[in-house]
Amino acid sequence: MTPSSGNKLFAIATTIAFFTILPKLIKDYLWPSEIKLDRNIFLFFYMLVLHQILFYSVNFVYFLFYIFEFKFIEQYKLNKQEWPWKTNREEFITQLIRSSKIILSNQLVVIPLMLYLNIYVTKSTKIRTEMESFPSILEIFWQITVCAVLDDFGFYWSHRLLHWRPIYPYFHKVHHEFKHTISISSEHAHFVEFIFGNMLPSNLGIILLGSKCHAVTWGLWLTFKILKTSEGHSGYHLPWSPFNYFPFIVLASEFHNYHHLKFKHNYGGVFAFWDTVCGTVHPVYRDYDFNRKYD
Ligand SMILES: [Zn+2]
Ligand SMILES: [Zn+2]
Repeated sequence: MTPSSGNKLFAIATTIAFFTILPKLIKDYLWPSEIKLDRNIFLFFYMLVLHQILFYSVNFVYFLFYIFEFKFIEQYKLNKQEWPWKTNREEFITQLIRSSKIILSNQLVVIPLMLYLNIYVTKSTKIRTEMESFPSILEIFWQITVCAVLDDFGFYWSHRLLHWRPIYPYFHKVHHEFKHTISISSEHAHFVEFIFGNMLPSNLGIILLGSKCHAVTWGLWLTFKILKTSEGHSGYHLPWSPFNYFPFIVLASEFHNYHHLKFKHNYGGVFAFWDTVCGTVHPVYRDYDFNRKYD
């Protein structure tokens, strides 16, 4: 069985709304007509606060799923094994506390530091913020595509490097502490990995675009990324998600879920392009089955 046409239609409608209705709402109701703050200070706090709002609101929804185990959602659970808090509650709570410390230190120390470098040292300092230069739908679309392609390149190759045996135990091992991932695992990473494997690839497009990019596009790209990475670690394969329909074989949440389960293969972050080119897609994906459950 494949996802129903209703789910596909929902995914297409959501994608169109993301590039059309959402920017219009931001323009009409959220974006300030005049920014009185220094532009760099505005950019710094705008991206910092936006990241926190997005991360915690998206994860709040997933935590509702985990806590209440709605039947409708649980049918889309990816792994055969029970949720980790059911197999060993004490171990899970210890892991959750450790994870909270790692995530908070990434969010409160690493992200501000990287934002500072990005805004004050690189070209991103020239990113547009004015209402007069609010980006068109076409501009948002092509720039997010550029960001996704560059992020995918950077993420794939840094991820492969992080799996290289001599350095794996020092950095990437932390992220792989979650075998059965939950949504917050997306930011559970050693700070070196968080900088070189996450933030740098993710901001590569923004840095290169410089003044061609508007802060709204940067914010929308961040929204895309947080939705994608949270879903990729959520443990669910939601059939209405637009991420199920990405090109270069299906790069849905199960793709990265399987990476955590099996440790090797499926290194890609946005597309599966580099995995396809380099032959690192797990053989299971050559016989794609939407309803498959994983051991
Ligand atoms: Zn990995
Ligand atoms: Zn992961």
